[in-house]
Amino acid sequence: MVPRSREKKLWGIGAAAGIVEGKAYVLNRKKTKFSKKYVPAEHVAREIKRVEKAIAKAAEDLLKIKKATAKEEVQEHLCILDSHLMILEDPMLLDSVREIITSAKKNAEWALSSAFENVKRIFDAIDSDYLRERKSDFDYLNNWVLRYLSGNQEDSIAQIQEKVIVISHYLSPADTAQMDRRKVAGFVTDIGGKTSHTAILARALKIPAVVGVERATVEISNGDRIVLDGREGLVIINPTRESIKQYRERALQYGNLERILLKERDLPAETVDGRRLILSANMEIVEESHAVLSYGAEGIGLYRTEFLCLNQGRIPGEEELFRVYKDLVQRVAPHPVNLRTFDFGSDKSPDINHLEREVNPALGLRSIRYCLKETGVFKDQLRAILRASHYGKARILFPMISGLSELRRAREMYVEAREDLIKKGEPFDPGLEIGIMVEVPSAALMADVLAREVDFFSIGTNDLIQYALAIDRVNKEVAYLYEPLHPAILRLLKGVVDAAHLAKIPVGMCGEMASDLRYIFVLLGFGFDQLSMVSSMIPWIRKIIRSASFRETGRLVERMLQGTESRANEEFLSAWIREKGPDIPEMVLDMP
Ligand code: PEP
Ligand code: MG
Repeated sequence: MVPRSREKKLWGIGAAAGIVEGKAYVLNRKKTKFSKKYVPAEHVAREIKRVEKAIAKAAEDLLKIKKATAKEEVQEHLCILDSHLMILEDPMLLDSVREIITSAKKNAEWALSSAFENVKRIFDAIDSDYLRERKSDFDYLNNWVLRYLSGNQEDSIAQIQEKVIVISHYLSPADTAQMDRRKVAGFVTDIGGKTSHTAILARALKIPAVVGVERATVEISNGDRIVLDGREGLVIINPTRESIKQYRERALQYGNLERILLKERDLPAETVDGRRLILSANMEIVEESHAVLSYGAEGIGLYRTEFLCLNQGRIPGEEELFRVYKDLVQRVAPHPVNLRTFDFGSDKSPDINHLEREVNPALGLRSIRYCLKETGVFKDQLRAILRASHYGKARILFPMISGLSELRRAREMYVEAREDLIKKGEPFDPGLEIGIMVEVPSAALMADVLAREVDFFSIGTNDLIQYALAIDRVNKEVAYLYEPLHPAILRLLKGVVDAAHLAKIPVGMCGEMASDLRYIFVLLGFGFDQLSMVSSMIPWIRKIIRSASFRETGRLVERMLQGTESRANEEFLSAWIREKGPDIPEMVLDMP
């Protein structure tokens, strides 16, 4: 008897939430290899014909996909396919390939790839944010045409006949746009990030997805049974009966609960005894704003503006930033958008040449420190935000402020940016509010002083915990020390909230601690005014707040502030939730 394969778990990045199970369908998406050959003069015409035919076929494919993709939810993303078509049909591309074949005598495959490299460089200089952003699309299209040249056809999403979980090294936006939810239950890719267009589309289509699994195509074979949890970023290969049962139940319960919770999306996040909080969303990419607001976010509490540059590998100028920010504040209006100024560095090192490798990047030229050095970049961004503020409610959030003089220097830059605009007669919101991220322990300890010079605070626990407890937030080895309920962290939080309220400014939290369902009671008790989180958590957190008592959570926090150890605080909180927690399904709290 053949032994049953063992269950195996793979972890990646949860790109689109949802739990699904099904049979693996491994797509052949390997990069097409070709040999570089010089061709004799008499073969030039033949090579040119081959390329012309291959490009025409690829364009034809795209048109077919576009016609077949009538799904309403992806209509706004079809411009991706249009831009792909534009690239393939641009005579500049074909002329360039012809020229390379004719003059350099390269074979069709080699000439095509050289031409794409040239086009990439040319597009870099064209004043079109969209085309410039999509550099990886050129490689994708190159590969597509190469496949026609080599006669080596890869599997297509369209040929999938039964409901499966797609496993692929890479999936393009065009692949994802073609996905029919009746046939594709979910997908897993070796590479890719949460901010890729593929991930955006997965969320728009609500297809659960895990990306960046690294070895998915190596570990998973066609026909393997898979359970995929797009919220946790987990893929289980050959799950045991118990795992399948467990995940089925969870999927069902989550689905039912989410439906119920979404019905309450317009209700205020108000406790039973009348304490009202603002729930807003964290956002990394502008294209997400529609989905983000659909969960009932009352604005964007944290827009991580640096992600726009990470995707492009360069820092856009004022004009380009202005257009992006203007579009965003208009979409989110009348709610506010907290535009956090560039937080480059540390784990968010962009591929930007002048940001050199540092020995200790988390403690180096990061964030506001970088901006105060590269004042040209900073002022461009400040002017862009100011200009956008005329079209909606924009607010500025300075990250990683460590003390008063840093804040004052940043504010001076802001004043200069305003003066520049006044001179040019550019309109902006004269009442634009400025806040700081409190994420460096020194800022938390100086909160009373800083509070006098800003309009609001937003606590970034991801970094505050990293810096206060001296643990690298991206290092798995010390992850067990990452303890939000550490007594030192609780004391810091208390100090910041009290200082803010004494100065009569609102205080929020935008670190991951605010997305953790169990910690909400603690944050409520501290008296936070606003919580900002990954948008899909908003309905759950609203539910908890609406069922909790502010007075009771205040007492909880008083007790917890006397705790001396994180573990004891965790246990105390769990016991408190069991005994005094609100009367809501246990699943809402996802109790361990
Ligand atoms: C934080 O540090 O908590 C935060 C929200 O910012 P980021 O995660 O982008 O560093
Ligand atoms: Mg931070």
